[in-house]
Amino acid sequence: MKKIAIIGGGAAGLSAAIYALRSGAEVTLFEQFGLGGLVATIDKIENYPSYTSVEGWQLAADMAAQAKSLGLKTIRQRVLALRKKDNLFEIVTDKGTFDFPSVVVATGTSHNKLGIEGDFVGHGVSYCATCDGAFFRGKPVAVVGGGRTAVSEAAYLADVCGQVYVVTSQSELAAEQRAVDALLSRSNVTVLYGASVSEILGEGEVSAIKLYGAPMQQLDVSAVFVATGAVPVTDFIRMDVDNVRGYLAVDGRCETSVKGLFAAGDVTSGSLKQIVTACADGAKAGSFAAAYSATVK
Ligand SMILES: Cc1cc2nc3c(=O)[nH]c(=O)nc-3n(C[C@H](O)[C@H](O)[C@H](O)COP(=O)(O)OP(=O)(O)OC[C@H]3O[C@@H](n4cnc5c(N)ncnc54)[C@H](O)[C@@H]3O)c2cc1C
Repeated sequence: MKKIAIIGGGAAGLSAAIYALRSGAEVTLFEQFGLGGLVATIDKIENYPSYTSVEGWQLAADMAAQAKSLGLKTIRQRVLALRKKDNLFEIVTDKGTFDFPSVVVATGTSHNKLGIEGDFVGHGVSYCATCDGAFFRGKPVAVVGGGRTAVSEAAYLADVCGQVYVVTSQSELAAEQRAVDALLSRSNVTVLYGASVSEILGEGEVSAIKLYGAPMQQLDVSAVFVATGAVPVTDFIRMDVDNVRGYLAVDGRCETSVKGLFAAGDVTSGSLKQIVTACADGAKAGSFAAAYSATVK
C-alpha cells in the first residue's frame, strides 16, 4: 500500500492530498488548525482560474471537501519534529509518533513580528489588510514595512481606510516601481522614511503609535498593519535539507535534497507564493511522493 504523510493543510497540502489519494495512496494529513491555511483567511480572490471572484473561506472549504470525499485522513496536531529513521520518516506530535515512507512538507510561512504587539493582536494589530482592513473603514491606520507586501497592503488600505501612514526604516520603498508610484500618488498616503514604531498605545484597542526617527513622536491610528515579511515554517525539520534563506529547495518533481521528502507551496524557494502555484506544487509533490512510497520496502 502506498502511504504518505502531508504536513500542512493549506492549498499546497490539500492539492497534494487530492493527487495522492486519486493515485491510490493512503494519505494522512497533519494540520495544527482547521483545513485551508492562508486561503481561508483571504477576503476575495480574483486570480484563481475559473473564478472571476471567490471568497477565501469558500475556496478553502471546497478544496477540503474534495480531499475528504476521496478519503483523506486528518490528524489535527502540530508536528513537533520530522526526522529520518532508516528508510522511513518519523513524525512526532503531542499525541504520538508516526512512520511514513514519504512525506510532503506544505507548512507555508509565518509573519515576522515587531515584538511590541503585546495583547493588541486582533485588537488593532493585524498581519493581513485584506482580512481586517474593512474593520477600520475611514479611520487612520499605519502600515509597518517598506517592501512589496507593505506597498500592496497600504494600497489596499488606502481604498478602505482614512489616512494611511507607511512607516519604514528604509530610505525608499522596495517594490515594483509602478506599484510604488501608484501608492505615492494617493492623497491619503504618507510615507515616513527612516522611522520605526517603538510602542503601540491604547486601552484594549490600538489608539496610537510612538515613533522613532519620524518628524512627529506620536501618531493617532486605529490599527497597525504589520507587513515586515515572512519566514518559512521549517523549524520542526530535524534533517539537513538544502534551502535558500530557509526556504526548501526542490527539483522539478518538488522533491527536496532528501530522497522521499517532498515540499510544496510557500515553504519552497522560488515559489510565486500564490494559490495557483501552491496547488501546482502540491499536485507534483503528492503524485511523486505517492510513487516514491510504493518503492520503499
Ligand atoms: C493577505 C494575503 C492575501 C493573499 N491573496 C492572494 C490572492 O488573492 N491570490 C493568490 O493566489 N494568493 C494570495 N495570497 C497568497 C496565498 O494565500 C498563498 O500563496 C497560499 O495560500 C500558500 O499556500 P500553502 O499551502 O503553501 O501555505 P499555507 O496556506 O500557509 O498553509 C500552511 C499550513 O500549514 C500548517 N502548519 C504550519 N506548520 C505546521 C506544523 N508544524 N504542524 C501542522 N501544521 C502546520 C498551517 O497551519 C497552515 O494551515 C495571499 C496571501 C496573504 C497573506
